[in-house]
Amino acid sequence: MTYNTSQIGSTHLIIRLDNLEHNVRFLRSKLNENTLFMAVVKAFSYGNNHCEIASFLQKKNLVDYFAVACVSEGVELREAGIRKPILVLHPQISDFEEIIKYELEPTLYSKRILSHFIEFVENKGKTAYPVHLKCNSGMNRLGFLLDQITDVCQILGRQKTIFVKTAFSHLFASEDKNASEFMEKQISLFIEFQNVIKKHFSHKILFHTCNTSGILNYPHAHFDMVRSGIGMYGFANDSEYQSDFRPITILKSFISQINEIPVGGYVGYNFGFQADKVTRSATIAVGHADGLNRIYGKGIGFVYIKGKKAPILGNVCMDMLMVDVTDIDCQEGEEVTVFDEKYTAEILAENAQTISYELITSLSRRIKRIYVE
Ligand SMILES: *Cc1c(COP(=O)(O)O)cnc(C)c1O
Repeated sequence: MTYNTSQIGSTHLIIRLDNLEHNVRFLRSKLNENTLFMAVVKAFSYGNNHCEIASFLQKKNLVDYFAVACVSEGVELREAGIRKPILVLHPQISDFEEIIKYELEPTLYSKRILSHFIEFVENKGKTAYPVHLKCNSGMNRLGFLLDQITDVCQILGRQKTIFVKTAFSHLFASEDKNASEFMEKQISLFIEFQNVIKKHFSHKILFHTCNTSGILNYPHAHFDMVRSGIGMYGFANDSEYQSDFRPITILKSFISQINEIPVGGYVGYNFGFQADKVTRSATIAVGHADGLNRIYGKGIGFVYIKGKKAPILGNVCMDMLMVDVTDIDCQEGEEVTVFDEKYTAEILAENAQTISYELITSLSRRIKRIYVE
């Protein structure tokens, strides 16, 4: 695979679909042959564009299912030609019309949403509409509790309007090795849910609870399907496994201008940096409106120029930031790496005490994205 970015001349993201394929194949290699793979493409595919990512995954037939957070994301996938089933993780009552129009599959997580959805589908005159049940195994975010599930199954058993395809839960600290005792508790509780649910239905319901770190750390909890987001995009959440993954999102820019700052001179807004020695500063067209939040200012964040680290000087501006290139032999127009496969978004995020998820999902849609296979 080759690509030449030196001709682009402006801030851009390179999205490496070859790396995406590698990551999916790697994750799938951890599964039994019959375990299904759900690709989580919510939040603009973690900044990579769900329509592009899902189209590639569908074309290569790499996954079995898609998941999005909101109905609007599912609608966009259908309009982009995605035909595989799409689970909506967090639908609202006001979304039902579009759910049905676009053949999206809602998660039913409360009695309120359950009864409204049955009524809505009934009024549409449809039967056996596919839905998914969310089980609360300890995260206390969405889902039915174990002591509600019998009742829920009885309600479902009395009707033919909706059809339960899967039931799932979510591990709240699957990447944290110190949390394994809690995770095992969640897994056991989810098995109790499964036993109740299985008793109430004659058809096979698929069960799933593992996200990316669940796939890696809890192989006995893969059940019938797994759901991966961050791993597909190249992050293992774990230094032990990181070498098996390849980040797919590369953020590049160029030096717009170089300034020589005299002793005592300031850089950027609000006296964010004052030079205590003659300093060379390079201005780059990436700012907080692009997703490089102000938290990365004042040396917390950095970019790479000619393989050397250049820390951010002062406050990050909306559309620009300035970096220290005093010790880097570089010129205006020179290419800048904000993050790539080696200097990863995860390293940058960790420096600001956040996580790769937050950094890559914050990348503005205004940044040009270039897809390479
Ligand atoms: C976002 C999400 C996932 C994907 O998690 P990763 O850690 O990115 O693999 C899976 N399941 C649910 C319910 C989610 O909200």
